[in-house]
Amino acid sequence: MSHAATPPVLVIHGGAGVIKRDLTPAKEKAIRAALTKALQDGYAQLKAGKDAVDAVSAAIVVLEDDPDFNAGRGAVFTHDGRNELDAAIMDGDSQGAGAVTGVTRIRNPILLARAVMEKTPYVMLSGAGAEVFAQSIGMPLVDPSYFRTEERWQQLQKALKEDAAGKSHADGETEKHFGTVGAVALDAQGHLAAGTSTGGMVDKRWGRIGDSPIIGAGTYANSDCAVSGTGWGEYYIRTVAAHAICMQVSEMRVPLKRAAAVVINQQIPALGGNGGAIALDAHGNIAIPFNTDGMYRGWIDASGVPHVAIYGDEDDGTSVPPAPAESTGDPDGQP
Ligand code: ASP
Repeated sequence: MSHAATPPVLVIHGGAGVIKRDLTPAKEKAIRAALTKALQDGYAQLKAGKDAVDAVSAAIVVLEDDPDFNAGRGAVFTHDGRNELDAAIMDGDSQGAGAVTGVTRIRNPILLARAVMEKTPYVMLSGAGAEVFAQSIGMPLVDPSYFRTEERWQQLQKALKEDAAGKSHADGETEKHFGTVGAVALDAQGHLAAGTSTGGMVDKRWGRIGDSPIIGAGTYANSDCAVSGTGWGEYYIRTVAAHAICMQVSEMRVPLKRAAAVVINQQIPALGGNGGAIALDAHGNIAIPFNTDGMYRGWIDASGVPHVAIYGDEDDGTSVPPAPAESTGDPDGQP
């Protein structure tokens, strides 16, 4: 279905989890600045008449390059001390999609996912093969050490200690999913796109792949709806979360906020999972439900003013007026 042109909208996330005591004021400031820059860079594409895929890619590249997020530089470590990156992108207009999994030498996995969508007959490439493809299109490889940050290394050490002490994911102190990045955009043509990029879960083993690069689970877009998820990926795969949200919107005409809340705040917790998502429909309505303490998030709509928030109870003090359930205003769909 095609929709009338609307003012462009961009929504981003930098992961769900966020425990207040973990954030120093300096770190919080840096994260807010990075989210703002991602919004500005992505929105600049939309303002220049570029499409939703361009905006999603530009916003995600900023966050992949920032070591404070679990994507690109700053990705979490696997159990074996490696950084294995996953990303996906989907164009809601054509329903074309591209994804890469388990890459270790790609600086911006979202750009490789996009190249898979645009330059191959495939949707998903993995590991070494994906890197051979990258080289074949002239995308330079980086040394795996590029992704290493001391903070993530210490996070792995903590998780390994918890493993040794027999703590499960649920009762371990280490947030094992945290900092994944994503974006959804609506361009001036009324077309939507979604993208997600992650290092996955700290301490992951055996080539584990989460929901982020799986079309329909962590990332999905069609002509009515675009979603990028973040959270405990196994539950997003089992609920086919992003697709489940969009199908309610597309097929059942459920309002976006309700559709997103059903999946994120009911279905996923009912199975024992947690996390959040950003969702956007073709009318510019935004939903950002999450069931964790907080979620790094931001949005920019017709006003052109970037809004950024972190905590669950946050009034970010911006000029967005309190909005009825289905409008672009503060879209926090809290439980
Ligand atoms: N969903 C990601 C995964 O399971 C992690 C995250 O969102 O933080 O790989």
